[in-house]
Amino acid sequence: MVQAKTWILKQHFEGFPKDTDFELKLEQLSEPRDGEVLLEAVFLSVDPYMRPFSRVRMQAGDVMIGTQVARVIQSNNPSFPVGCHVVGRCGWRTHTVTDGSNITKILVDWPQDVSLSHALGAIGMPGLTALYGLEEVCAIKPGETLLVNAAAGAVGSVAGQIAKLKGCKVVGSAGSDDKVAYLKELGFDQAFNYKTVPSLEEALKNASPEGYDCYFENVGGPFSSVAIPLMKEFGRIAVCGGISLYNDTTPQTGPYPHLQMIFKQLKMEGFLVGRWQHKNDESLKRMLTWMQEGKLKCKEHVTAGFENMPAAFMGMLRGENIGKAIVKV
Ligand code: NDP
Repeated sequence: MVQAKTWILKQHFEGFPKDTDFELKLEQLSEPRDGEVLLEAVFLSVDPYMRPFSRVRMQAGDVMIGTQVARVIQSNNPSFPVGCHVVGRCGWRTHTVTDGSNITKILVDWPQDVSLSHALGAIGMPGLTALYGLEEVCAIKPGETLLVNAAAGAVGSVAGQIAKLKGCKVVGSAGSDDKVAYLKELGFDQAFNYKTVPSLEEALKNASPEGYDCYFENVGGPFSSVAIPLMKEFGRIAVCGGISLYNDTTPQTGPYPHLQMIFKQLKMEGFLVGRWQHKNDESLKRMLTWMQEGKLKCKEHVTAGFENMPAAFMGMLRGENIGKAIVKV
């Protein structure tokens, strides 16, 4: 009988998460029955969405939600033979028994020299988010100027690179000088540290005096209040995330964007990556090809040890990661 280690949400987060909100628990797993498989986690993802989703999708005492790359180590399901790797929505757990409904096989022609952890990053959910935000929501065109914040993270760094591949000018903001250097390495036209610039408005104006056609919004709050007035007429804003709001205990208020949106005839659309699930296979193959051709570069911030899941999660929320935050079991 296999024993799984799991991380429980002991109590709902109030403000920024803390160590005492999590508890490591052992769980005895039953033998996989007909149609079921036993998974062993290899890489786990820590993502910003876990913070707001914990409030709406979880009860205190639940295993933390999350995705992992896992190896099938026992199988009574011919679709998932022993040894194959899957991406599973299994939560923060080292072992899982599943009937296969919450797992997807890794792309069949996944190259040997590409770490499977990228299936949680650029060649996974965050990469798809970047792609769909640009193509489906912004409908970005060559020659346009894109603004992306949290730009050195999993989604932002891919969004900026894809926009460059499409012939756009890209401006990125991030929270450290190392991150800014990384954005320049990735080919961003302009990048700045939003924590140290004397004026965010001036930094955004200097980076693109003519304004922005598209804005890939990961941060929200005061950043967007400064950025929205700098959009060009008919600009499009893909509201992907609002990480500056996730730990608020009281909701932030205005300035409100209505007048800017009316006078500039802006389009602002929130989205969830799952909307275009039917395109995922084709999209992942496209991004894997870019990666293999050296057109899409993907850094990872890897934390070793399942025991360090909460630390990795909180570190990512604090901005410690360049690229995708991953935990290696
Ligand atoms: P990242 O890898 O970008 O990690 C989070 C980053 O957010 C940190 O590194 C930090 O970078 C930045 N950050 C944290 N707090 C603040 C703050 N108060 N103000 C500004 N920046 C902050 O995460 P992801 O790439 O996985 O996610 C990026 C965004 O995309 C998130 O908002 C997430 O919720 C959203 N998302 C939405 C999806 C959808 O379907 N709509 C799917 C996936 C992600 P820095 O040092 O630059 O501050």
